[in-house]
Amino acid sequence: MAFALKGVAYITGAGSGIGQYAAYSLARQGVRSFALLDRNPVTKTVTELKKAYPDISIKEIELDVANEAAINDSVDQTVKEFGRIDYALNNAGIGGALKTTDQIDMDDFQRVLAVNTTGVWLCQRAQIRQMLKQEKRTDSYRSYRGSIVNTASMYGLIGPTLNVPSTAYATSKHAVVGLTKADAIAFAPRGIKINALCPGYVATPLVISSMSAGSVMEDERVKVPIQRLAEMEEIGDCVAWLHSDASSYVVGASTVADGGFTIQ
Ligand code: NAD
Repeated sequence: MAFALKGVAYITGAGSGIGQYAAYSLARQGVRSFALLDRNPVTKTVTELKKAYPDISIKEIELDVANEAAINDSVDQTVKEFGRIDYALNNAGIGGALKTTDQIDMDDFQRVLAVNTTGVWLCQRAQIRQMLKQEKRTDSYRSYRGSIVNTASMYGLIGPTLNVPSTAYATSKHAVVGLTKADAIAFAPRGIKINALCPGYVATPLVISSMSAGSVMEDERVKVPIQRLAEMEEIGDCVAWLHSDASSYVVGASTVADGGFTIQ
């Protein structure tokens, strides 16, 4: 796989899991300028990237994606450092409690929406405002001013199973799919490509530990037609593809990478 990505990446939730592996995939495809954002330190991601690519430039930004001023400032800082933003991944997210509507309280519900939905919207708004100011990288008909990928979930497309009643999470991720479609339509004519990525179960440490023998989540693993969880690297590669010229006609898509879970 070679997508020859040249430009500046901005990734939220870059300290762990999908965000971390998306950074590795983008670097493998040629990206050498990164803004890596997370509410926790991104030390491991930075160490690995610098070890593999000594010529890499990384701006580390610690913030909460639900903080409007911090997000706007992070885009300003990235542009001050690197001049533009080509590949944005709005990926920071939380699972919230496995509760149905009658069980969940207001604060828990609102926090999941604040991070997973409002956080993505705040990032996307700041990125769009910047991308509208920058030119396309090349004069190829496939080129964009910038590309944005939002990490939704297969639970942004289907309801949660009876075993795993993640009401707030499913609500927040359906909203990310809707936001992606609305802004993809509004900004495609102005040269910005926006897509959602809808992974199924990914083998992050948290998911693996939650699927221990005898847990309700173990039943979920058995239902995946491909009979395994996604490797983080595979999902990272989907991000690289969605940012590449190879997906130039893919606009506003809810890109499913779920081992066949949602076609059942
Ligand atoms: P993860 O917990 O490994 O990584 C999430 C990262 O986001 C962490 O580094 C965390 O510190 C950061 N983060 C959380 N809240 C934040 C906030 N308010 N501000 C800034 N950073 C914050 O989880 P992951 O599995 O890599 O999840 C990444 C995204 O993928 C999430 O949006 C998640 O909903 C989605 N997703 C995950 C799976 C899965 O099976 N793991 C499946 C579908 C979708």
